Amino acid sequence: MLRLLILVEEAALLKTSNNGPAASSGLILPKQAHDEHALEGERSNYFTASCYYCVETICVLCGVVIAWTKIDKSESPTKILEFLEKVYPTEESKSAYICIDKACLVLHTAVANGSWDRVWKSTTRFIVDAYHYINHRAEDYLCRKWCNPAPKDGSAPNLVVVAYDNRGNPYYKRAFNTQTCEQLNAWLGGFDSIIRRMKPSNFDCYKQTLMYTITSTLRIRCGHHRQDMYPY
Ligand SMILES: [Zn+2]
Repeated sequence: MLRLLILVEEAALLKTSNNGPAASSGLILPKQAHDEHALEGERSNYFTASCYYCVETICVLCGVVIAWTKIDKSESPTKILEFLEKVYPTEESKSAYICIDKACLVLHTAVANGSWDRVWKSTTRFIVDAYHYINHRAEDYLCRKWCNPAPKDGSAPNLVVVAYDNRGNPYYKRAFNTQTCEQLNAWLGGFDSIIRRMKPSNFDCYKQTLMYTITSTLRIRCGHHRQDMYPY
């Protein structure tokens, strides 16, 4: 069975703009492209409470949330790989594709630290979601070759399908909507001002309730998720 997961980071506890609450909490965040390694922010003062950097969420194609975690200081590929290994400890549980905005960086890190050969190579490919892929460097051969969400060379027939327009002409189209996690993020954005200043324990409870609410709604709409695969 082909399964595709989407990973997204949500700056739920901290704005990525230096003009937002992050600045008032004393943290200066460097601007980071999605295919460049993250730098850890420097604190200009220690008079305010520290914040987590972001929330990492895993969801399936219809938007049902599988898991989420808070990430401290920076969203590094190493932390993403650790999160994925924790959620999917066995080979059978791993998905065929994992879609993430910085998939090429995650792939580089997995190859460098040995987890690619040890954990991922036989089961999974990391691909970039369609929206962020346009910002990845065109000359990055490894990104274009291994992380392309819609290769037209026939190397990933599960990701690209042939459809027909009104005149019967064939054309390629993406088989999946890789933006569901971003759409989930947009919904969660409505609660941003409430959860931004919470203590971790309150945040965990509130966030879990939000995830449960959206996932319950989506599960009713989709109606095909197995309870043992998606415990929410
Ligand atoms: Zn890339």
